Amino acid sequence: MRGHDHRPKQPDLEDLPYTWHMALTDALADLLMAKGIFGADELRATLETIDQATPAQGTRLVARAWVDPAFRARLLEDVNAAAAELGIDAGAIPIRAVADTPEVHNVVVCTLCSCYPRFLLGPPPDWYKQRAYRSRVVREPRAVLAEFGLVLPDEIRIEVHDSTAELRYMVLPMRPEGTAHMDEEALAALVTRDCLIGTALPRAPQRA
Ligand code: FE
Repeated sequence: MRGHDHRPKQPDLEDLPYTWHMALTDALADLLMAKGIFGADELRATLETIDQATPAQGTRLVARAWVDPAFRARLLEDVNAAAAELGIDAGAIPIRAVADTPEVHNVVVCTLCSCYPRFLLGPPPDWYKQRAYRSRVVREPRAVLAEFGLVLPDEIRIEVHDSTAELRYMVLPMRPEGTAHMDEEALAALVTRDCLIGTALPRAPQRA
């Protein structure tokens, strides 16, 4: 048998204190299932859909918008419907795409908790859920973005979008200069998860 002598890095979930919110979540799920609002299999399938979603779904939307102005217009009108065109189920909660321009840079936060377009992009990064990001990016977005390595010129205005349970956001960054020769798939590869949150910008590949 292989050795298994490393120490666990985190305590087992079962060993963490059972908080009021965990009890509420369990009780609510039990009640909704008992009332037949949804079944255990539906709950499992929904969680599976979220776990299988990845930022790659969002990067496909961005790349398509860059090469197809009509698609870009539809994406800005209705992200969930535009995603469905590409066979992506973005879930029932409306998602709004906020487009960067030469004058405006967009960044997304949930100041209250951790609302995020999980069906489209998968789970948010840990820092997105932390109080430091949630509170500071609203008050001093320029300084927070600089800490992510994104230093924006003073003349670019930063708009911070606060996600809610009813409306989620994704950033539509601008297509970088020097990418005219690239196809949609190569363009999608320039877009990272953080580009979709607004804490990074897509970069053209360095010329050799
Ligand atoms: Fe939230």
